[in-house]
Amino acid sequence: MGLNIKQIRSDFPILHQQVYNKPLIYLDNGATTQKPQVVIDTVRELQETRNSSIHRGVHYLSDQMTDRYEAARETVRAFLNAASTNEIIFTSGATGSINAVAFSFGEKFVTAGDEIVISEMEHHSNIVPWQMLCDRKGASIKVIPFYDNGELILEKLDDLLTDRTRIVALTHASNSMGTINPVKEVIKKAHAKGIPVLLDGAQMVQHGEVDVRELDCDFYIFSSHKIFGPTGSGVLYGKESILEELPPYQGGGDMVDQVTFERTSYNTLPFKFEAGTTNYTGAIGLAAALDYLQSIGFEAIGRYEQELTGYTLEKLGGIDGLKIYGTAANRISVFSFLMQNIHPYDAGMILDKMGIAVRTGTHCTQPVMDHFGIDGTIRASLVFYNTMEEVDALIEGIQRTIQMLS
Ligand code: PLP
Repeated sequence: MGLNIKQIRSDFPILHQQVYNKPLIYLDNGATTQKPQVVIDTVRELQETRNSSIHRGVHYLSDQMTDRYEAARETVRAFLNAASTNEIIFTSGATGSINAVAFSFGEKFVTAGDEIVISEMEHHSNIVPWQMLCDRKGASIKVIPFYDNGELILEKLDDLLTDRTRIVALTHASNSMGTINPVKEVIKKAHAKGIPVLLDGAQMVQHGEVDVRELDCDFYIFSSHKIFGPTGSGVLYGKESILEELPPYQGGGDMVDQVTFERTSYNTLPFKFEAGTTNYTGAIGLAAALDYLQSIGFEAIGRYEQELTGYTLEKLGGIDGLKIYGTAANRISVFSFLMQNIHPYDAGMILDKMGIAVRTGTHCTQPVMDHFGIDGTIRASLVFYNTMEEVDALIEGIQRTIQMLS
């Protein structure tokens, strides 16, 4: 069954406004997604009637909030098809999750001379924490390159995986080119050599079903705010057997068992990795977003987004002098492009005045820009509440921009 887009759009109050007296056309979903009413209501309800610090109280509100938080963990577990809630750690977001792994895994398993394999299309969040680890430990980064169409050069991986490789950290989907990477093949190759794999799902989870057991990844991370949930919250999935071996990356309340001045013993999973008062409101809001998505169905969302993607590529492809960066066959609805001799920032400003929100710049993927020898792109990133009419408006906006600036 197809999606009822009109109904879906009515679930997102922010979409129904005018900017500069034009209807808002929000095509910056790669940066952050908008929130359905049910998420807004959940967060509001928690603040108005339930707020209380979790895990530590004996009173009613604390019990209620703790139950809701742990239910949210179960919702995320089911969403990812993880084996146990012990494998679901709530963090501050995708960046927080990668930093947690880079620090904790790095402390335990990385020493001087070791290697970390990432790809040329990583978001800075999946580059810098590994560089910081390498600086601390005297390890080095190896990079899987991509072809000009944005697809990984998978054949290079065999040479890059050595007996010094400690982990592969790869984006599931590229935030600047839209490529969906062949992560299962990467995992198979890495596991054949006993190397664990972290997948950055920040741009994937909102577009399609993810099954961590089917993928057999060792870590999977994402942000709540990019999947229609609140900001400041995110998820780190890790296989229980690996998480058990890792040291905590932050110390504080809740992550401990016994504390004396001589020594501290740590709490069990998943609490060992959740020091301090967590963003419980964000986690419960995220669960509300996941429930909402499940109620619509990922199959229908996926089918609709494929149509939207085909339509957008066809329309963009019809504009003279427009170049698309990232044309991989397997892709999400994220499109980077440039118009001949027009600076992306100028185009972005003009489109904005037409009510069209796109992103311009490097999209935190400077190495991707370096690959193409450009300073940045214009990026339109669509999700299931976007429409073909909005794509038409974008195309018209681009054509008007070209007329104005050429
Ligand atoms: N990874 C990818 C692929 C992203 O696109 C982003 C954000 O754009 C991040 C990681 C970082 O996400 P956050 O800023 O929510 O931590």
